Amino acid sequence: MNQTTDCLIVGGGLIGMLTAREMVAAGLAVTIIEKGCVGGESSWAGGGILSPLYPWQYPLETTVLASWSQSHYPQLAEELIAGTGIDPEWTQCGLLMLDVDEAEQALSWAQDHHQSLQMVDAEKSLQLEPGLGCPPAAALWMPQIAQVRNPRLIKSLKCDLMGRSVTLRENEEVLELLCQDGRVTGVRTDRGKVSAPLVVAAGGAWSAALLKGVGQEVKIEPVRGQMLLYKAQPGVVHRMVMQHGHYLIPRRDGHVLVGSTVEYVGFDKSITSTARNELQKAALMMMPKLEAYPLIAHWAGLRPGNRNGLPLIGPVPGVQGLFINSGHFRNGVVLGLGSARLVSDLMLERTAMIVDPEPYRITGEQAVMQ
Ligand SMILES: Cc1cc2nc3c(=O)[nH]c(=O)nc-3n(C[C@H](O)[C@H](O)[C@H](O)COP(=O)(O)OP(=O)(O)OC[C@H]3O[C@@H](n4cnc5c(N)ncnc54)[C@H](O)[C@@H]3O)c2cc1C
Repeated sequence: MNQTTDCLIVGGGLIGMLTAREMVAAGLAVTIIEKGCVGGESSWAGGGILSPLYPWQYPLETTVLASWSQSHYPQLAEELIAGTGIDPEWTQCGLLMLDVDEAEQALSWAQDHHQSLQMVDAEKSLQLEPGLGCPPAAALWMPQIAQVRNPRLIKSLKCDLMGRSVTLRENEEVLELLCQDGRVTGVRTDRGKVSAPLVVAAGGAWSAALLKGVGQEVKIEPVRGQMLLYKAQPGVVHRMVMQHGHYLIPRRDGHVLVGSTVEYVGFDKSITSTARNELQKAALMMMPKLEAYPLIAHWAGLRPGNRNGLPLIGPVPGVQGLFINSGHFRNGVVLGLGSARLVSDLMLERTAMIVDPEPYRITGEQAVMQ
């Protein structure tokens, strides 16, 4: 028998799960259809830094959405811990950037957007991070930047959604979005049909293929990112540290992630020795002490890449009831909370929205109607 639901979400990554949480909180019956396991793709692979990297390089709309999410993450973490007992490890350990080429731009961005960002000397950098290999004469320090531990966040969100009676259909692929008279009516999957008056395309790197079927071409493409994991001890690395686009993320239990590559290689999740060498070299340059600890994992994920720094959030033109929440590229964790609220505000036709939705909509710039 075909299932019917109020709101159907295609894709159970962080974006789909956070959207489901908003919609179920509004009293709707919500179903997620996920071709693998929820959170098993980019959302699992990511680092969990709750800030765009070099945030001053992004459009204003990224800063606005990131700021909303940043201020709401502590509450989400508290609610998840209280509701599920699983701690997503929201940790405000700060981000120390060892590059200062854009210091002037960074400081002026911070002033304009009331962000805490300071220029620090080598002595202060060493106080913040005693293991630094070669502290530069000047660095940039953002003390308020936090992180979450992606796999834990996914686990706690899954448990939370199940507790709220969201239907999770894993290992089921949506093959087609169904429309009639300019309205979405549901989806066809490899197991049958599911009917819904509201459908959200949250398929991450696979979103373009989903929308192509309804004649909408969006510029979302897979961008591979590789990561390494060291099994160090707590206190070996204290802060998130960045240099020349590479970063270290210390988890509470001492594990240290090293990220990441940005590779345009299609839907290929292989790992490469070139990337391992590049990441390892960057990690040891920042933190030579890591050499003493075993490198225990190396993986890759496919980010939903966009070309202008902004995700697509909002209605899909020409198909009533169909919405997109995708294309978050390198910032899906930090932007995810705000994006989920915004797409829900739009679906529920709330008058007060968290941010102006216009810049995130599908327009002629980002999409071409066929
Ligand atoms: C190495 C790496 C490091 C990163 N670090 C950070 C960071 O520090 N901070 C940050 O904010 N962001 C980071 N990101 C980016 C972030 O992880 C992504 O932007 C975010 O996870 C995207 O979430 P998503 O739900 O859109 O995509 P995904 O997690 O990929 O989820 C999409 C889901 O849709 C499913 N799906 C697709 N098509 C279908 C279909 N037809 N039927 C059913 N299911 C379907 C897929 O199986 C998948 O599970 C990083 C990413 C990578 C790869």
